[in-house]
Order: sequence, then C-alpha cells, then structure tokens
Amino acid sequence: MKRRSFITRSLAGGVAAGSALSLLHPQSVLAKRPRKTFSIQETGRYDLLLKGGHVIDPANNINSKMDVAITDGNIAGISANIPQNESKKTIDVSELYVTPGFIDMHAHGFYTDLTTSYQWVRFSDICFPSGVTTVLDVGSSGAETFEQFKKLIDMSKVRTLALLNISATGMNDKGEQDPAQYKIPSMVEMAQTYPDIIIGFKTAHYWTTPPYDKIHTPWASVDAVIEAGRRAGLPVMFDFFPRKPSDGYPARSYRELILEKGRPGDIHTHVFARHFPIIDENGKVNQDLFKAQERGFIFDVGHGAGSFVYRNAVPAIQQGFRPNTISTDLHGDNTCGPVVNMANVISKFLCMGLPIEDVILRSTINPARIMNRPELGQLTVGHTADVAVFEVLKGDFSYVDTSGGKNFGDQKIYNILTLSGGKIGFDPYGLSYPYWENAPKDSAYWVNPSGQYF
Ligand SMILES: [Zn+2]
Repeated sequence: MKRRSFITRSLAGGVAAGSALSLLHPQSVLAKRPRKTFSIQETGRYDLLLKGGHVIDPANNINSKMDVAITDGNIAGISANIPQNESKKTIDVSELYVTPGFIDMHAHGFYTDLTTSYQWVRFSDICFPSGVTTVLDVGSSGAETFEQFKKLIDMSKVRTLALLNISATGMNDKGEQDPAQYKIPSMVEMAQTYPDIIIGFKTAHYWTTPPYDKIHTPWASVDAVIEAGRRAGLPVMFDFFPRKPSDGYPARSYRELILEKGRPGDIHTHVFARHFPIIDENGKVNQDLFKAQERGFIFDVGHGAGSFVYRNAVPAIQQGFRPNTISTDLHGDNTCGPVVNMANVISKFLCMGLPIEDVILRSTINPARIMNRPELGQLTVGHTADVAVFEVLKGDFSYVDTSGGKNFGDQKIYNILTLSGGKIGFDPYGLSYPYWENAPKDSAYWVNPSGQYF
C-alpha cells in the first residue's frame, strides 16, 4: 500500500471553520489558532504522538515541554523531541497541558439502584469530558448490591473502582443507620472476590442528630468499617459528623477520628465541609490536621452539594494545609453546580493559590497511591496511556461553594482531549481527526453504507 502523504491542512479549514469553532470557549487557544500539524501516515513505531505540549507528571518530576508517544495503549516514549515521522498519527498539542488522566477519588455512579432517593451520574458521560480516566465510586453499593453495580462498572468506558458501603444495602438511608446491616464478613468476602475493583470500604451519614441508644452508639459505623478494613487489609473512608456528648454517651470528636481511630491510609472525605473544626475562632487552622497527615491519615476534598465552604478552604490553604486529594463527590444533584465536574473543582484549588503542578499531584498520582493503584496516575513508559490534554484559560472567573459563597480567580482548566488506555475518549474539537476532505481515500469515510436506498 502506498505511503500516505502528511496531511498538514488545519483542523478547521474551509467553510466549516465557523461552526467547528462555535463550541469552543472564546478564550481558548483553539479558537485563536487552529491546530496545524495533525498528520497520519502508514508507518511509524508509535501509534500516536502528542506533540509540543507542556507535560506535568508529578510521579516522574516532569514539568516541561515534552512529546508523548503511545503504542498499544501504553506510554511508549516521552522526551523533548520525538520526530513526527516516527508515529502513525501526530496531534499538535502546543499551548496545551498534557498530564496523566485525572483520578476522581469520590463519586457516585450506581444509577440503576432505584431503592434510594439519591440521584447518581453515568461516569461514561461526565468523566472523560473533564479529563477523568479513573473514578472511585464511594459506597453507592454494599455487599448485597455490589454485583448489580458491577454490571455498570463492566460496561463503563471509564476505569471504575469502588468502596463498599458499610451497609450491605448500599447508600440508602435506612441501611447506613442500621448496625444490623453492617455485615462485615460479607464485605470482606466481596472485596476478596473482586480485588481488581473493590479497594476499600466506606461509612457515611451515620446518626447525625437523633438521640443515641444501645443500638445506635456514637461510633458504631466508624468502628465497624475500620474492623472490615482491618480484616480485609484495605483502607476505609469516613463521611463523618462530629457530635457533642449527649444522651449519656461521650463525644464523637473529630480529633479522635483523625488522630486515634483512623489508621494511616484511611481517608476523611469532605474535609472542607462546614461542620468540621478546620478553622478556629481566631482564624487559625486546626493543628490536628497536620498531626494527622504526619501519621499518614488522608484528607480528601469530596466537594459534593454540601461539603465545601471557602471559609474553611481558603484560610486553611493560606496557612499551609493541603488536602491529599482533590475530588468531586459527583452525584445527580451537583452536576449543574456547585460541582459541575472534576476540572471545575481542580480549578477552584488553582484559584486558591495552589500551583498547577500541585493540583495535578493531588488529582493523579496521590489518589492512585492511596487507592493502592500506583501504576495509575503517571505517564511512565510501559504504563497505561491515560492522558488529559487541557488548557488553563486566563481571565476573570468566579467559582461557588456549597453554602452560598463565591470566590474569584484568574484561571480555569478547560479540558480539550482525553485518552483512556491510549484510546480517544473525548475529542469534540477533532484534534485527532483529519479535515474531512483529507480523510483516507480507502477508508469507510467515502463509502456509502451498504443497503443505502435512493
Ligand atoms: Zn459522596
């Protein structure tokens, strides 16, 4: 077969330019300057080359302009200049950032569970557009419902991991409040049956205001989930509500959770929710947070619809506290705000003063290691090619929290292209497409479907 010539015509050439660009954010470099160097050819040792981007890969201490080559779904090369003629397909990603695909460590995707009033999202719809290639569902399912959820996981294009809820029935209100549903042996057995998916356990929403009694003791769900984690050798996540002493029972204190009960590697999610003692009455950040991090305890953002307030986050970050991981807590009631998606949540941290390499760290390799999937979240040769390609728009932006507060910022992450296992998962601007007239002449593009009737 004859070697195809390089196609150097711009992505948005011809009369299509106006409509092709109308999708774009007006400040995007794609709107200002169409991509120039898209090319395809028959030969080349690489399948795909992302050329000219600014690579940030905290796991490998890379923060500079680099080319990234991909073959057979894996990262195959990364260096300052990989020639275009070594790759079958080359995409110009100049003026864009290239990072490991984001890992969202807190989301909810069990959308076929109709026994609960919660509304879930479809990961395939919402993750790739915001650069997320791995998502952790945190306790939407439990030991008795996980296999139903697994059918969705198996269908999902987005790599989906899961925490089992302490309640065997999953995240419906009744089970989480009922210690009789905390079936530890079943949880451990399910985790051991599906070790590729289940990476730990979660407790949430337990007994936040009703009076305690002999069954509903202050620490029942926390103690049970830790016991499950201990038996399975897995981390656990706490969605937690501190309470004062009441009804003859002692306090359920935040300090006890993060400095005593929680083990190294265990995770407190919703760290900037308004009901935690993050900032004291003098405006100082709680020093227990640093002590907990020193002993290996993990703090996750888990933004959600009610778990992120700037009055906690801004002063904490100004005083040097950084959550280990940035995550969304995506569910059906926050995709239209205040969460929207992972890129929006990461942007909030950029605009609170964290450097770009720092927010990428907390959205890629940090969650990968915490989930005991250290092979993810990095652009290392031989590892799976999960990649986000995005811009950081500059301008006047504003962001909202979950209690009616707003913050301003001059940056916004705007995802352009997502690869999952080397495959294109999101490319609405056609960076990986030829201009239509240049589609390969022997490809199906030019063939009328068989049976087409005039
Ligand atoms: Zn959640």
